[in-house]
Amino acid sequence: MILTGEMLIGFSALRGTGGDKRAFNPATNSDIAEPVFGMGGSEEVERAVSLAAQAFDVYRHVTLAKRAAFIEAIAENILKLGDELIERAHAETGLPVPRLQGERARTVGQLRLFAKVVRDGHFLGSTIDHAQPERQPLPRVDLRLAKMPLGPVAVFGASNFPLAFSVAGGDTASALAAGAPVIVKAHGAHLGTSALVGRAIQRAVKEQDLPEGVFSLLFGAGRNVGEALVGHPQIKAVGFTGSRQGGLALVRIANARPEPIPVYAEMSSINPVFLFPGALASRAEAIGRAFADSLTMGAGQFCTNPGLVVAIDGPDLDRFIGAAGNALTTKPAQTMLTPGIFDAYCEGTRTVAKVPDVTRVAQGEPAGKRQNSAQAALYVTDAQRLLTSTELEAEMFGPASVVIRARDFDELLKVAEHVEGQLTITLQIDAADHADARRLLPVLERKAGRILVNGFPTGVEVCHAMVHGGPFPSTSNSMFTSVGATAIDRFLRPVCYQDLPDALLPDVLKEANPLGLWRLVDGEFITPTQAVGCVDGLQFATKQRTMNLPI
Ligand code: NAP
Repeated sequence: MILTGEMLIGFSALRGTGGDKRAFNPATNSDIAEPVFGMGGSEEVERAVSLAAQAFDVYRHVTLAKRAAFIEAIAENILKLGDELIERAHAETGLPVPRLQGERARTVGQLRLFAKVVRDGHFLGSTIDHAQPERQPLPRVDLRLAKMPLGPVAVFGASNFPLAFSVAGGDTASALAAGAPVIVKAHGAHLGTSALVGRAIQRAVKEQDLPEGVFSLLFGAGRNVGEALVGHPQIKAVGFTGSRQGGLALVRIANARPEPIPVYAEMSSINPVFLFPGALASRAEAIGRAFADSLTMGAGQFCTNPGLVVAIDGPDLDRFIGAAGNALTTKPAQTMLTPGIFDAYCEGTRTVAKVPDVTRVAQGEPAGKRQNSAQAALYVTDAQRLLTSTELEAEMFGPASVVIRARDFDELLKVAEHVEGQLTITLQIDAADHADARRLLPVLERKAGRILVNGFPTGVEVCHAMVHGGPFPSTSNSMFTSVGATAIDRFLRPVCYQDLPDALLPDVLKEANPLGLWRLVDGEFITPTQAVGCVDGLQFATKQRTMNLPI
């Protein structure tokens, strides 16, 4: 496909008039000559949002089967882009080809998961409380709840996942699954990749005969496009992955609107790893080597990167530090996504190194002549220093981590109480550590969205049970996840219908259950295979058996 540098607004491709920008190759530290991308402005935001608003009522009412087929068509069209997509993403991000191939598989798998979620229909939360005309002292009215999409959603592509958290990534997939039109603001670090994927979505919209405003892709530099999008009255929610500063700026814009809207920003997490004495005694070296692999994966540019390690001081912790340090010294420097992210990483490590009582105990291979390439680093300090130095808790966003020596378990608990909200917290434990782990867990449940044992936090499975979220500052809203099937809930709200005649109810709530859904009826979950009865001329479902929650 020939890249033209144009934005996609509905079915049109048009060149923005807000200035020109070329894509950048961080490995060669130079511009990619073709094409020249035209940046958008508030005019293009207006056109895209107005189309999205027009599309909303039509798109949210298409059948679940059609919505699912559309999402599957996006996945197919991304696959059809073939090597061109991988080569472009490699040139724009410096990420290795196998990683990008894996990320494409995840992106496609994620879209297919959401297509299944749509077909299943459970996300609609169909709930019925039948009328009780005979109830004393007062009769009960008929009440029925179902969820509907919030309205057009603005998505900010993430720099560190050019496929899985960008134009057709988790935010877009879950918003489209919810029935919301999406406008993506492409991340400036992979404009060509964004355009290719954007065309794949645009084609799917046409193929499935959906209104053009279901999807638009905007380019923007200088923040005007992002600010105009979040501030636009017809935008009803925002998905974002990036810096704490950027996420909070968008939250502020959204809250200052006459009608505030939710911003689901995934921002900053250092993902503490707690090493327990039993685990260290039996396998300190193995944990150290596995930790070094996790820390340096993808040049450490993961929101789940293990940036803090906490353990009780002693010879076993020294064994861990020695093994992790040795492993790190053999890790080559890796190209980072952008010069800005590379500079921020260098600044972050310099800041940590300057904190009193912090010692650098290991470094990866130097970058040599490689451009924008991060050298891994491991620092050590004590718990008292962590408790008094905010610099040690800032996300370095790269292959660097700080090991904290705690005097005893009580001090380790203090560290756990002290750290900010996290996406993940990891425990390395053996059977002998269970009693202490049980003491720590209530603290960790307050701090993190995902708690894992004897693994490492990098690598986020996309499935029904995943939580990729957590208390502030890991996200701006700890009630939701941005990865996994329930990410769809971010873009839905409940509507209750009181005493509507069956003919006026949406299919999801009609008495005969034409969509064949699991439903909560009069407080009990019933299967879609229940018998059908008849009251007052209306068909209704009679409960055959009750079941546990289906998902
Ligand atoms: P970013 O600076 O937060 O930018 C992400 C997106 O938000 C970009 O499209 C950016 O637009 C837009 N944006 C940022 N601030 C904005 C504002 N005030 N108003 C309107 N739009 C705004 O993130 P990044 O470029 O990906 O990386 C920068 C740093 O973020 C990294 O060094 C790293 O520390 C952190 N980061 C963290 C994660 C994570 O998962 N925790 C992921 C990626 C990055 P423009 O590019 O046009 O400014």
